[in-house]
Amino acid sequence: MVSLKTSKELSDMKLACQISAQALKLAGELIRPGVSTAHVNKLVHEFIVAQGAKPNFLHLYGFPAACCISVNNELIHGIPSSRIIQEGDIVSVDVGAQINGFNGDNAATFAAGQVSQEAAQLMEVTKECLARAIAAAQPGNRLGDIGYAVQSYAESFGYGVVRDYVGHGVGRELHEPPEVPNYGKPGRGLRLLPGMTLAIEPMINQKGAAVKTIEDGTVLTASGSLCAHFEHTIAITTEGPIILTKA
Ligand code: MG
Repeated sequence: MVSLKTSKELSDMKLACQISAQALKLAGELIRPGVSTAHVNKLVHEFIVAQGAKPNFLHLYGFPAACCISVNNELIHGIPSSRIIQEGDIVSVDVGAQINGFNGDNAATFAAGQVSQEAAQLMEVTKECLARAIAAAQPGNRLGDIGYAVQSYAESFGYGVVRDYVGHGVGRELHEPPEVPNYGKPGRGLRLLPGMTLAIEPMINQKGAAVKTIEDGTVLTASGSLCAHFEHTIAITTEGPIILTKA
């Protein structure tokens, strides 16, 4: 069942989304060559708690940290560790906060130092996929319009759109219905209605759509290529989409 939030619920949800956005912004500022992913996670975790919120990824499906931090060919669910970020790495951080009974969720891929032209383009295109997906999230449109916006743009660069993981509804639970795929056909699927709150999250591989999961749960590109991930929590309103996790 897809829940439609009242305007009161939307305003209650804003705080969780704002803390999530500030946490992601902080992660982006911390990421640089020479820093461990565990250090980034620690400071982001402390930030969320200092706001009176709860890191909502911690212990979710057994995940041991506040942030998923995934480097280069790692797409999602990377576990913060003593791994040191290197010059030229691209680092995806996915983080959310819960407060007032609501959740926020957002992600971005950050450059550590100077990255290759290929990496920079992949990040730029994935970010633009998210912008196009949000622009398609108009009331009266359909889920397929969101997926098509991502897929058509990413594939025009020869990139692979990940099928095995998708965006989702978000609200009182971090993961709510509906699933929000990054592929689809215009005009198909569930109709988008005011009050829906969605986490839209394009996951784009440089080569191929296939991914694989290793023992600790980290999801990697099957090809070994780079990948990128950008996510916002948005609300669909009668006036159009609103980005709740805008920093
Ligand atoms: Mg998400």
